[in-house]
Amino acid sequence: MSAFVINKLCRGCQRCMRACPQGAISMELSLAQVNPDKCTECETCMEVCMHGAITMVEPATGSTGSEKTQMTKEV
Ligand code: SF4
Ligand code: SF4
Repeated sequence: MSAFVINKLCRGCQRCMRACPQGAISMELSLAQVNPDKCTECETCMEVCMHGAITMVEPATGSTGSEKTQMTKEV
């Protein structure tokens, strides 16, 4: 399972929020946030972001700070 994260390159333009067909993106403190429970990984937001602020992370191979998607097993 992958997750999309929005990093500090985000300029708060809201293009991704308007483009997301699932309504999975919201704005918090002028930065976009992806709700992993709604996201279907369609990559539309990555395509519309002109700032390269949206990246996909693989929880198994390390992440850039997505909290809610890191509920995998711990040893
Ligand atoms: S499209 Fe990119 S820059 Fe604009 S709000 Fe979304 S993540 Fe931020
Ligand atoms: S990948 Fe698709 S569903 Fe997920 S946040 Fe981006 S536009 Fe929305």
